[in-house]
Amino acid sequence: MLDGKVALVTGGTRGIGLATARALAGAGATVVLTGRDEAKAKEAAAAAGAASGLALDVTDAKAVSTLVRGVAKEHGKLDIVVANAGIMEDALLGMIREELVDTTLSTNVAGTLHTVQAAARAMMRKKASPAGDRGTSAGAIVVLASIVGEHGSAGQTVYAASKAAVANIARSAAKELGRSGIRVNAVAPGVIDTDLTSGLTEEAKAENIGKTPLGRLGTPEDVANAIRFLVSDDASFITGQVLGIDGGLVL
Ligand code: NDP
Repeated sequence: MLDGKVALVTGGTRGIGLATARALAGAGATVVLTGRDEAKAKEAAAAAGAASGLALDVTDAKAVSTLVRGVAKEHGKLDIVVANAGIMEDALLGMIREELVDTTLSTNVAGTLHTVQAAARAMMRKKASPAGDRGTSAGAIVVLASIVGEHGSAGQTVYAASKAAVANIARSAAKELGRSGIRVNAVAPGVIDTDLTSGLTEEAKAENIGKTPLGRLGTPEDVANAIRFLVSDDASFITGQVLGIDGGLVL
């Protein structure tokens, strides 16, 4: 499905990013994954069957640009980028500290933006083909939004705002990059069982499951499988979409 494609996954050391790296590698892509700690990134790359694991903090625009250029140079091109790195910290409105605003926006919003910008630059260097031609797109980018970006969430105002921004990075970039044959989509997961949601109480998990028509929490693989589809040529006429992966939670 992805034979011959070169893919980069940010935040690939665990959770959704690790599952995505594994899914893309399993479909035949040459995958590079990143995390803030080099040793952890290398360990995750080995576990995922990825080609390499590199250190990257997505808040550092210059580092993102250098790494993306390096990956494209080393592998001759860059076809797929999954801007997955993200953080979530809850705080009621009255308890929101400036530091929380800074770290959330610099990681989730600026980090995603840096990654999409660098990806677009690397993908546009490839010979442009007519936009939307099946099988010949210049590149596919997926960013990680969230159902709370669309619907809001008490105690998560900063995170929800950041994920609304991420969804609109996808929509705007899709409009801008479509003519260059680059597709940009977002996935909006519901509650996925990872480190990010490990702070949820058993009560909160049960409540979410109760509200979910499919009657369970999501797994990292549920999200990874959808991403694998969106970056593949099977999705060659899909761009600017925000795909909910939530078991029907928001219905
Ligand atoms: P995890 O906490 O399990 O993993 C987060 C990943 O992001 C890690 O690999 C971490 O790497 C990386 N990361 C965090 N900060 C940075 C940074 N500044 N620079 C580079 N990498 C960074 O989270 P999930 O797998 O659950 O979430 C992945 C994405 O999906 C996030 O964007 C999240 O907001 C989104 N999402 C998750 C949902 C869920 O229910 N789990 C629901 C909706 C959206 P390391 O710490 O090794 O550096």
